Amino acid sequence: MREIVLATHNAHKIGELIALFQTSPFALKSLDDYPPFDPGLEDGSTFEENALIKARKAAGHLSLPCLADDSGLEVDALNGKPGIHSARYASSNPERIERLLEELKNISPEKRSARFVCAMAIVRPDGAALIKTAYCYGYIAENPTGVNGFGYDPVFFIPELGKTMAELPLEAKNLISHRANAARLILPLLTDWID
Ligand code: IMP
Repeated sequence: MREIVLATHNAHKIGELIALFQTSPFALKSLDDYPPFDPGLEDGSTFEENALIKARKAAGHLSLPCLADDSGLEVDALNGKPGIHSARYASSNPERIERLLEELKNISPEKRSARFVCAMAIVRPDGAALIKTAYCYGYIAENPTGVNGFGYDPVFFIPELGKTMAELPLEAKNLISHRANAARLILPLLTDWID
C-alpha cells in the first residue's frame, strides 16, 4: 500500500485525517512515526503558502509523499482575523477562545459570521505539489459549548445543525468540516498523481 505522511504532530488533525482517508488506497503515517526534525518556519502569508512549506519540508526530509494541512478561522467582523495567525492568537485553546469572545463582545449574533479555512497540500519527494483549499461556514457563538474536536470548535456554531462543531462526534464533523471538504477535493486526484 502506498504511504502518505501527514506532516503534523497535531493528534486531532491526525485523527480526523485518518478517518477521512479510511477508504482510500493509502496507508497514512504522521510525523510521530519518524525521528524528529526541524520543521522550519511557517512564515508564509497565506494558508496555501504555509501548507506548502510544511509539506515540502517533510517530503524533502523523509523522501516520501507528505500531506500538510494549514487551517484557521476567519471572522468577518474582525476583517478575517485570526486567519493564518489562528494557532498563535493566544497560547492555549481556552485563551484563544477567550480572546476571540472578548474581541467580539459588542458584536450582535447575526454579525458574527465566520469560516474555517483549510489549505491541504501534498508534495512528492521530487518536489511536485498539489494543493486545494476548502471552507466551512458558521457563526461565532457567545459562549463555548461541547467537548469534542479542538481549537475554536466550541464556539463555531453551525446554524443548519443548531450545534457547535465541538458538539459533533468525529464522524459528523468529518461530513461538513473545512478539512473534510479539502480532503474530498484532493483525494480523487491522488491515485494517479502519486506514482
Ligand atoms: P495550524 O496547525 O497552523 O494549521 O493551526 C491551525 C489552528 O487553527 C489550530 O491551532 C486551531 O486553533 C485552528 N483550527 C484549525 N482547524 C480547526 C478545526 O477543525 N477546529 C477548530 N480549530 C481549528
